[in-house]
Amino acid sequence: MGRSVLVTGGNRGIGLAIARAFAEQGDSVAVTHRGSGAPEGLFGVQCDVTDAEAVDRAFTEVEEHQGPVEVLVSNAGITRDGLLMRMKEDDFTSVLDANLTAAYRVAKRATPKMVRARKGRMVFVSSVVGLLGSAGQTNYAASKAGLVGLARSIARELGSRNVTANVVAPGFVRTDMTAELPEKRQQEILGQVPVGRYAEADEIAAVVRFLASDAAGYVTGAVVPVDGGLGMGH
Ligand code: NDP
Repeated sequence: MGRSVLVTGGNRGIGLAIARAFAEQGDSVAVTHRGSGAPEGLFGVQCDVTDAEAVDRAFTEVEEHQGPVEVLVSNAGITRDGLLMRMKEDDFTSVLDANLTAAYRVAKRATPKMVRARKGRMVFVSSVVGLLGSAGQTNYAASKAGLVGLARSIARELGSRNVTANVVAPGFVRTDMTAELPEKRQQEILGQVPVGRYAEADEIAAVVRFLASDAAGYVTGAVVPVDGGLGMGH
């Protein structure tokens, strides 16, 4: 029988590829969206992950529809790039809120039911820049690095309950987020990627799906790079 999966930001981009990868193997998959509606074949719940009440409501809807969340993928994320010197405090705190505090919100909401079931999988979508840093992305890199500490602490708190928490750190993936980068910057990035191309969203999804599988029961607190060698294992 399929599991109950929730993917935040699963209405498009990497999140959608992740949601489809789970649905393909017969899981019941819910995705959050902010008004766009659910992609075909997936259950959609409207939810802004920066709003704790909306997160609670979304989980309740998912629980009523497909049972308690057994696999949580915290994927929703934003960028608001700019050099530190010019970065407004709101640009920093909004990115932290959407990328890191939101991950805390969804993980916290999922935890009691996973602990009760003595079973659960959490996967957090970070980024290679969380570990390498990135000029113009102090806010984004800090939020993505924060996910590592969050996941590893959850791994320690919940390991004995058979709940794992892992991080996937994608490199550059072909989505709306990277399409916004200037052509020159895109070429510079590709020059640093040993594999010599962007990732397809499906290649991130495959790793997330593995980390959420029964086969990955002994993998927790891991940071798995999916970056074409850009970070050389970091
Ligand atoms: P997109 O910009 O294509 O999609 C972002 C997703 O996050 C959308 O579904 C968006 O919803 C959702 N989202 C953003 N803010 C909120 C919010 N406050 N509440 C609910 N949902 C929200 O990004 P990607 O698919 O490229 O990125 C997905 C994740 O992967 C992000 O965490 C990103 O940081 C990470 N990542 C991406 C890389 C890349 O190269 N693309 C590389 C490394 C990591 P909506 O449609 O409503 O805007």
